[in-house]
Amino acid sequence: MGVPIVGVIGGGQLARMMIPAAVELGVEIRVLAEAEGSSARLAATQVGDYRDLDTVMAFAKDVDVVTFDHEHVPQAVLRALLDAEISVQPGPDALEFAQDKLRMRQRLSELGAPVPDWAAVSNPEELQQFISEHGGAAVLKTPRGGYDGHGVRIVRAGTDAGDWFENFEALLVEELVDFRRELAQVVARRPNGEIVAWPVVESVQRDGVCHEVFAPAPGVNSGNDRLAEVTTSIAETIAEELGVTGVLAVELFETTDQRVLVNELAMRPHNSGHWTIDGSRTSQFEQHLRAVLDLPLGDASPIDRHSVMVNILGGPQEEAITDRFAAVMARVPDAKLHTYGKSARPGRKVGHITVSGEDLDEVTYRARMAASYFEDSTE
Ligand code: ADP
Repeated sequence: MGVPIVGVIGGGQLARMMIPAAVELGVEIRVLAEAEGSSARLAATQVGDYRDLDTVMAFAKDVDVVTFDHEHVPQAVLRALLDAEISVQPGPDALEFAQDKLRMRQRLSELGAPVPDWAAVSNPEELQQFISEHGGAAVLKTPRGGYDGHGVRIVRAGTDAGDWFENFEALLVEELVDFRRELAQVVARRPNGEIVAWPVVESVQRDGVCHEVFAPAPGVNSGNDRLAEVTTSIAETIAEELGVTGVLAVELFETTDQRVLVNELAMRPHNSGHWTIDGSRTSQFEQHLRAVLDLPLGDASPIDRHSVMVNILGGPQEEAITDRFAAVMARVPDAKLHTYGKSARPGRKVGHITVSGEDLDEVTYRARMAASYFEDSTE
């Protein structure tokens, strides 16, 4: 057998960040990107439509395993790959629950996983009834196509759905969870069943977009092990029962009355795991490659006591990169800068910064200080 070839569908930053891991492992990585000049263009890249079976088949037939940068490849395309005996990790049976939030809620409820109260609603009357039964407010979600808070809205009346009922047969409505903070539990599972978990993290969202991640979630270190046990067991159960392979991120709410509820699932490396590149013995990108190739998984323990990751949104504009980077490098030499090679657009994730160390306040201060150099870059 020669060098294994991993084919990644989708050319975003997640595919990009698999590249250094592949180089180090001696694995060949190829990308099917949506357009020229993608974030993952540093790998051997083909450009084509991931919804088109012929395109995907032509890409997939020369690789050892197909995996993903996003969850949008249609089920019919995925199943055709399986019929052609191509290894798809994670497979369509698992991915379905990351593609459709209604199916996900249904399956998690069947498994007995803790989830917010929810219902499938098909018209304003049903929505109004759920709202009335849940204190006058609820969260409405489109089952498909949502990301970074698009496709999520708080509703107070059955008429607040706008045109969503016209575009979807049914919508997901959930109780408005009174959460103390948002957590994410990231694990990796390989086809032979081995699972490895990173420490549970806190993720702070701003306008529906991940802004900061604290690893481990503050308080978990200092004896609050019950929380870590609960989140790990939830994620492991989901990974096993759904047959997930590769990285699985379980987004969670920690409620004000000390419950943990599952918000949603991502079956690929996830923003809440970016800190692992610099802060863990095995990064989520290396682990994903190992897992989809069914290789033994790496040690997921943290290198430092705390890591804080801050996303860079919007900019910087190309010409400002060198100056700003030099300034950050000079001011916070231990900050690890990551850029995604994407053009600037307001609110778009274009990079992140991680700082690790012993003292949470100090690490947080340094990570925010480093990120502050990019704060005006959305204009
Ligand atoms: P996306 O798929 O766009 O990431 P999510 O379902 O994760 O959408 O929701 C985005 C954000 O909206 C969450 O991170 C959380 O802050 C908020 N949110 C989602 N569902 C609820 C809920 N049931 N109650 C309270 N807040 C919620």
